[in-house]
Amino acid sequence: MRTRQEFKRLYNSSEFKEKYLYEKNDLGAVCTEEGTSFLLWSPLAEEVKLRLYKDGEASPCQQVIFMKKEEKGIWAYRTEQKLHGVYYDYEITMEGEKIITGDPYAKACGVNGIRSMAVDLKKTDPEGWEKDVPPGHTPENVIYELHVKEFSWDSAGGFSNENRGRYRAFTQEHTTLHNDGIHPTGLDYLKELGVTHVQIMPAYDYGSVDEKNEKEFNWGYDPVNYNVPEGAYSSDPAHGEVRIREFKEMIQALHRNGFRVIMDVVYNHMYSLDNSLNRTVPWYYFRTDEDGKISDGSACGNDVASERPMCSRYILESVLYWTREYHIDGFRFDLMGLLDTDLMNRIRKELDDCYGEGEILVYGEPWAADDTAMELPALPALKKNISLLDKNVGIFCDDTRDAIKGHVFEAEIPGFVNGGKDLEEKILKSVTAWCGEKGAKAPSQIITYVSAHDNWTLWDKLAKSVKEETERLRINRMAAALYMTCQGNLFFLSGEEFARTKDGHVNTYNASIELNRLDWQRAYEYEGLRTYYRGLIALRKQFPGLCDKSENAHLRISGQWKQKGAVGFLVDNRDKNSSSPWKKLYLIYNSTEKTVTKQLPDGSWEILLDGESSFLWKNPEKTDRAEAAPVSVLVLGQR
Ligand code: CA
Repeated sequence: MRTRQEFKRLYNSSEFKEKYLYEKNDLGAVCTEEGTSFLLWSPLAEEVKLRLYKDGEASPCQQVIFMKKEEKGIWAYRTEQKLHGVYYDYEITMEGEKIITGDPYAKACGVNGIRSMAVDLKKTDPEGWEKDVPPGHTPENVIYELHVKEFSWDSAGGFSNENRGRYRAFTQEHTTLHNDGIHPTGLDYLKELGVTHVQIMPAYDYGSVDEKNEKEFNWGYDPVNYNVPEGAYSSDPAHGEVRIREFKEMIQALHRNGFRVIMDVVYNHMYSLDNSLNRTVPWYYFRTDEDGKISDGSACGNDVASERPMCSRYILESVLYWTREYHIDGFRFDLMGLLDTDLMNRIRKELDDCYGEGEILVYGEPWAADDTAMELPALPALKKNISLLDKNVGIFCDDTRDAIKGHVFEAEIPGFVNGGKDLEEKILKSVTAWCGEKGAKAPSQIITYVSAHDNWTLWDKLAKSVKEETERLRINRMAAALYMTCQGNLFFLSGEEFARTKDGHVNTYNASIELNRLDWQRAYEYEGLRTYYRGLIALRKQFPGLCDKSENAHLRISGQWKQKGAVGFLVDNRDKNSSSPWKKLYLIYNSTEKTVTKQLPDGSWEILLDGESSFLWKNPEKTDRAEAAPVSVLVLGQR
């Protein structure tokens, strides 16, 4: 075999680029009523055999077919046979070596993703799938980060044993706590909470759990088959069509219940370098530096080379496939800082062209774990390059997150709500989603949040600085009211609303499901906090002045003031498309131990929310001055 440097020189040569750019989207196995085609892009292969099997595990090969070499590095086999349900892999001969591999473009696979499967996708559609559409737009995107297994594993949740931890739990409606028929869990619970989008943690096929062992748990940031649902969440991982149908049933149920669905996608690295992309075209899809050293900006052992033409096509096609075939409404890009800005803008544009401007949400983590060997002229989609990204490519805003609750890695460094100093300016910038000047182009580019699956839960982070529970709850309410009255898209980790804890563990990606599960009992133990979140979300949707995602949104904020530990501002809340009764808002964030009192601008003001209740707006009292209690957010409205 060539060395990695030799591969790099070859792939970067203009001759290779011109000769082998394949621009149709029919790669993989395409299986319809008319027949089946198998197409593989493997330009360096000398011979490719397609091998067919009865199952996805140990059954012997039933048929070997020599594939035909076509233009652009394509190997093809086309037949009139309907091979739906037939498993396959490839035996590639390259530089004298024989390589066995699954199909990198597989749409279905056997257990643990080793063999691929030909699938007639029409046969996997659940009843009514052709009528499945996402719910209409809501005034704000309130995104709830959820793991398929965590959602329904807890036996207190009332899910049936056969559905627990699986896609199908989402199709089980009207579940209640211990089946008491009174306290909603599952989808009814989410409806009551008021979130609008469910962001599913990785649910494409990943490698870190044995799909046949239901005791195993992982977050799933280790892709194997990018275009296939994970098997561990299906009722039968050994039959490739089952996970596809059940994934679609999950989406259908979420849509039917009023939620849009966002997929967490990890195109920046793979579970192992020994994967189907690297086997079919060695070192094409993965970055190496000039010395042949393997790039590891993901800290997971490899970085996908998004800037290579066929790799960027691969990622783009994959996103379009999930949107088209599975009706996905948005994508959260893991370590987006390892992907390049051109790719992100291209994904944005293709989605806009197909579904309308901004209709499908696109956002990601604008950072990487380390430097990556991305090749010029490509530039990484890091926070510092936000100006190069389309206004509808969003980033998780770590500045807002850390300003509010404190350092994400350093336990003892607090934020504004828990005793941090000199953060007033950053808090005011958080309000306008860091727009204006050199910051974001518009609030559409910002994901405003204080918790996600990584690092401590909000509750566990606050526990580092505040031991006493009543006080911690007060601070938690303040943190929530603060970030939920900032511009930008709202996002939180499932369970933040009921003081979710992981017993202080920072990184539970491979910890037990018992530690990671959503604790439905706790959701009712912390009903007070949860009610506060519920009122807050309902109120936020009536604040068009904060929901505005346009470039001019920051101009709605005026009269900002700051003093030690407190800030305040006015919001122009007028909007001809909103039924909100309030034309103006006045807010104070008071993190001090003393009440902050301010004179109000002329007119009559109502108290909509304070540090204790987020439902005051239902029956608002009038006030002639703004009085923010210690450690609280105060929101006043003027009609
Ligand atoms: Ca898997």
